[in-house]
Amino acid sequence: MPTKKELEEEMRSVLEEECLCKDCPSYVKCGEMGGYCFQQVGKSKCIKKMRGCECGACSITKMEGLTGMYYCVKGAAKKGGAVRKAKPKAKKAVKTKAKPKGKTVKAKAKKKRK
Ligand code: SF4
Ligand code: SF4
Repeated sequence: MPTKKELEEEMRSVLEEECLCKDCPSYVKCGEMGGYCFQQVGKSKCIKKMRGCECGACSITKMEGLTGMYYCVKGAAKKGGAVRKAKPKAKKAVKTKAKPKGKTVKAKAKKKRK
């Protein structure tokens, strides 16, 4: 089983070869290596503005089945590798009490008393 350090080195080399963040208009040079879609990396500490995203053209997007963008600002892809859009839940029908048609029992009783 690979050690944590080995995994980090492997991830670093994958990022250097595959990640397109450094060629992206949103990228800000501040010593970060990109790979913001990875849980181990997550949001950038220096990228704040979304000026375009290259993630769609990145091979890691295809390999991991990612559907998101702007991980540097929004945070890493969700566990399992994919950021899938959840279907909006159907709204529950709100039941309202229908007003009784015609006169109410109380009104009828009142009329009888007269
Ligand atoms: S995550 Fe997307 S927007 Fe952010 S630096 Fe990488 S390619 Fe650019
Ligand atoms: S999907 Fe985006 S953040 Fe992830 S490695 Fe590719 S370019 Fe970098």
